[in-house]
Amino acid sequence: MKKVALFPGSFDPFTKGHADIVMRGLKLFDEVIIGIGTNSAKKRYFPLEMMTDKIRETFQDTNKVKIIAYDDLTANAVVTYGANFLLRGLRNTTDFEYENTISQVNRHLVNGLETVFLITSPELAPISSTIVRELHKYGAKVNEFLPYDLD
Ligand code: ADP
Repeated sequence: MKKVALFPGSFDPFTKGHADIVMRGLKLFDEVIIGIGTNSAKKRYFPLEMMTDKIRETFQDTNKVKIIAYDDLTANAVVTYGANFLLRGLRNTTDFEYENTISQVNRHLVNGLETVFLITSPELAPISSTIVRELHKYGAKVNEFLPYDLD
């Protein structure tokens, strides 16, 4: 059976920390689908279309990474896009507390659905989308945190 992982997130923006999880995920899975969770009621800072293009540009050298956007329960998106695992990154205990519950709920919703967690690479642990947004908002340079250049 082909091992396909859905890597869900807001990716607002997609950072070097996220890219590291995808690259390491590719050693475990045949394919990684980056799922940009969108919520029609929640406005993004970086537009969805622009972020999709930037992520596509980041992984242009591999055909093992797909990018999709979904406005649904992550567990439903797993089924819709033919994935059989969830992939998530863990930076710290705060991430763990949150992920712990979510993964149990997802396994309840889709029988046997396992979430695979990769511990962040230490040099990338401080990078968060929230901090990048905040820096960008006030005009600070953020390209060093991103695997692509913001124009
Ligand atoms: P969400 O809104 O679902 O938390 P994010 O886009 O913030 O989505 O993060 C998606 C996933 O990437 C989460 O599993 C998160 O823990 C992980 N992640 C975020 N930043 C990093 C990082 N610097 N290193 C490793 N994993 C990360």
